[in-house]
Amino acid sequence: MSHRTELSARLGYASNGLDRAANHRDDGERMAQWRADPLARTVLLQGDIPLTRRIDNALSPWFAFAEAAEHGAATEEAFLGLDEGRPRFAMQLAHPAVDSDQGQGDLVALDLRSLAVQGLLGPADLGALAQAKSLIGWHLRHRFCANCGAPTSSAAGGWRRECEACKAQHFPRTDPVVIMLAIRGDRCLLARQPRFPPGTYSCLAGFVEPGETFEDAVRREIFEEAGVRVGRVRYLASQPWPFPSSLMIGCLCEALDEDLTIDRQELEDARWFRRDEVAQILAGTHDGGVRSPPPIAIAHWLERAFVEGESF
Ligand SMILES: [Zn+2]
Repeated sequence: MSHRTELSARLGYASNGLDRAANHRDDGERMAQWRADPLARTVLLQGDIPLTRRIDNALSPWFAFAEAAEHGAATEEAFLGLDEGRPRFAMQLAHPAVDSDQGQGDLVALDLRSLAVQGLLGPADLGALAQAKSLIGWHLRHRFCANCGAPTSSAAGGWRRECEACKAQHFPRTDPVVIMLAIRGDRCLLARQPRFPPGTYSCLAGFVEPGETFEDAVRREIFEEAGVRVGRVRYLASQPWPFPSSLMIGCLCEALDEDLTIDRQELEDARWFRRDEVAQILAGTHDGGVRSPPPIAIAHWLERAFVEGESF
């Protein structure tokens, strides 16, 4: 069975088809060759907004280096990987090429979430942009050594930063976040944060802490936010979430009781929903107007797994 049948491969930002060719990152000569390849292309970021270009009726995030140069100097650059042998890079523009959320000629500057939600790019391009946004964003936030405070410089095709002063090496970080659907019999727990769109209920989520397993993080977060004790935890799928550099670890878990003690600092509300109600929520036909997050979000798929029969 192909790995493309994994649930993770169906999630937003997760379909990254690039061969990262990580074993070549320290080969400066090879990197220079790939950069000079006429088939090399780069994505362009201004701040954390990707620049795209309208070609016929579709958008493309890929620019030849000569085209990229027309938009000014780059402050950071990284090698993303190979697309069937064709080198792919990412660059941070020193100055915005166009006003954000507006177009100019055939250029469009629209944030990555909107590009995904509005279905303006294919899954592979969204995956590459997620990789580019997280990696370039890391460079922008780590220009100084966390060990000694001296300026650092990019190395290894943009996959490391080095400190000349104390010789420390720094690597791009990914922050693990557990996101989980607690199930008890024929009901599951959904909650809403005040920042959610009206009517939207979703799964609980939280950062994994140092010295903690995913399973313990799931049990701790649900107890802290909803007061519910959790037993067994089962991993379902994961999703890169480039805001700025999270990895969402989607789990189903077994609630041991149903009494809610809601942390009102974190949550506006939390409720148990029957399986048939969740089916209505996903279909957009729920009587009470409750809505689910969109299909680019892993929470949508955790809810779907429950509707399709997952249980403990
Ligand atoms: Zn240092």
